[in-house]
Amino acid sequence: MSSYEQNNVFARILRGELPCKKVYEDEFALAFHDINPLAPVHVLVIPKGEYVSNADFAAAAPPELIVGFWRAVAKIAKDLGLDSSGYRLVANHGAQSGQSVFHFHVHIFGGKMMPHDMTKLPGAAAKG
Ligand code: 5GP
Repeated sequence: MSSYEQNNVFARILRGELPCKKVYEDEFALAFHDINPLAPVHVLVIPKGEYVSNADFAAAAPPELIVGFWRAVAKIAKDLGLDSSGYRLVANHGAQSGQSVFHFHVHIFGGKMMPHDMTKLPGAAAKG
């Protein structure tokens, strides 16, 4: 995988150069609504650091950032009210996954029944 590109769209959101609909922020993570939601709840969580994908994040991030990031993901899902109904986490890595923004991010999908077939995306925003 190629190296981190400083002007990817999430780097620019992190630097405050582009707006986002913020859901949560702490020292480890920033979370905001996806611009093109694929479920009634579709939030993206990004770490505060320059990591291309999960492989890069797992290999290179300091342990406290990895722990803080994943704790933030769980807290955000809970704060969104998804704990009891359930939710899906997705992190795309590389071309065949369909990754389109090369700053590591986790998708939180919720608010509808997810298709069990992992080749399908969660689906349009209609309640399921
Ligand atoms: P990927 O395909 O890389 O896993 O996911 C990238 C996600 O970022 C897509 O779901 C896409 O809709 C979202 N996205 C792309 N550009 C922007 C943007 O400028 N703002 C927000 N909020 N989401 C974006």
